Amino acid sequence: MREAGRINAQALAAVRDAIRPGVTTGALDKIAEDIIRKLGGKPAFLGYPGPTPYPATINACINEEMVHGIPADRKLKEGDLVSIDCGTVFQGFVADSAFSLGVGAVNGEVQKLLDVTEEALRLGIQQMRSGHRVGDVSAAIQRHVEEHGYHVPREYTGHGVGRQMHEGPQVPNYGIPGRGMVLRPGLTIALEPMVLVGTPHTRVLGDRWTVASADGSLTAHFEHTVAVTDGEPLILTLP
Ligand code: MG
Ligand code: MG
Repeated sequence: MREAGRINAQALAAVRDAIRPGVTTGALDKIAEDIIRKLGGKPAFLGYPGPTPYPATINACINEEMVHGIPADRKLKEGDLVSIDCGTVFQGFVADSAFSLGVGAVNGEVQKLLDVTEEALRLGIQQMRSGHRVGDVSAAIQRHVEEHGYHVPREYTGHGVGRQMHEGPQVPNYGIPGRGMVLRPGLTIALEPMVLVGTPHTRVLGDRWTVASADGSLTAHFEHTVAVTDGEPLILTLP
């Protein structure tokens, strides 16, 4: 899983470097796929079962789009907020990671949303310790997001990850400390705060994949695949 995570991180780093006004999300998808294949991995999202088999390597979401956006010939614009999610399979093991980024110069509201969402992920990871429970992780994320006046969705959650991209347990971005499954060393979770500015509610767009905020407000998404150990949480999706 560490190797899958390393490959995935390299793909995401290349996508990050390519993000600028005028680039299409389809071009970003090609960059990610080329790197994953060159390094001996396979795109985990490609062909993933859904309303139609998922057709690409990354999810690319712009502004009010939260997750599962399909890359296309749409160009990024200065000031957009773009969210990129990517998964890699290497020798039968999966890693899953995502980031959001402003395109060019962004306004203060976009930057605050990015900062709050990334910090929510960091705080959630810090709770991923042996003996803690899923609710401790979930509550840390929810508390930080709601303290800043933002919202977490209820229908989309973090998840166990390993030989499959989506395994148990579900790890919601909301919860109650002390509740839920006990975390033990070796458990690997894709922790992924999704944050919406105006509402916890979402809607699925006409392509039947893209999930957006129900009110059209901005959203951001950060994700790492993280292992519980005997000590510090181990992030597997770093370069
Ligand atoms: Mg993901
Ligand atoms: Mg995930």
